[in-house]
Amino acid sequence: MAANILLVEDEPGIQELLKLNLGQAGHKVTAADDAEGALQYLKTTLPDVILLDWMLPGMSGVQLARRLRSQDRTRDIPIIMLTARTDETDKVEGLETGADDYITKPFSPKELMARIKAVLRRRAPQLTSDIVESGGLRLDPATHRLWGDGKPFELGPTEFRLLHFFMTHPERVHSRAQLLDQVWGDHVFVEERTVDVHIRRLRKSLELTGHDHLIETVRGSGYRYSATAVR
Ligand code: CA
Repeated sequence: MAANILLVEDEPGIQELLKLNLGQAGHKVTAADDAEGALQYLKTTLPDVILLDWMLPGMSGVQLARRLRSQDRTRDIPIIMLTARTDETDKVEGLETGADDYITKPFSPKELMARIKAVLRRRAPQLTSDIVESGGLRLDPATHRLWGDGKPFELGPTEFRLLHFFMTHPERVHSRAQLLDQVWGDHVFVEERTVDVHIRRLRKSLELTGHDHLIETVRGSGYRYSATAVR
């Protein structure tokens, strides 16, 4: 499971160490030295998870977390706070800012990887490599393989990610903007009509095994994957 990680940490030694460890684990890491740098980065790119140091020069990690949670664009990004503090009241404050988890320094890289995986599994199941199965479809993210009623078939990379996202977030209506954010990762430079193009391709491929009806168009709202949809 590879994720795009934004690391906000002002201590060069810790920043380097984490970049190295996360990189070795297959993650793509972008580092920012302070909250301002992080906000600048977030204007154009939405990471899969943010590792956020509590104590930063200027705007603190806690203030940044609150700010991210208050804005639509960044509200759903999982945040793990990195803190040197151990006081119980601080922990409570950390979670009240909307952080998904926090980890106290010093921590082992192994522990951090486990926390990242847990947060992603909870908040962004489409980024994990767990096999998903519903409506007669079976999708294996690790090997990039697909089956419809037991018969293997193939999809382009974008359609594969789209179907993976749908299957891990079934029965919900997703707007085009939400799909761009979640599947393309960054909606700034892509037009919403791109989504329709890939939905059309996805349905065409699913027609081969008779599963295209699982992707429903919700007029005026977007698209929904429904494992119980009937033809
Ligand atoms: Ca710090």
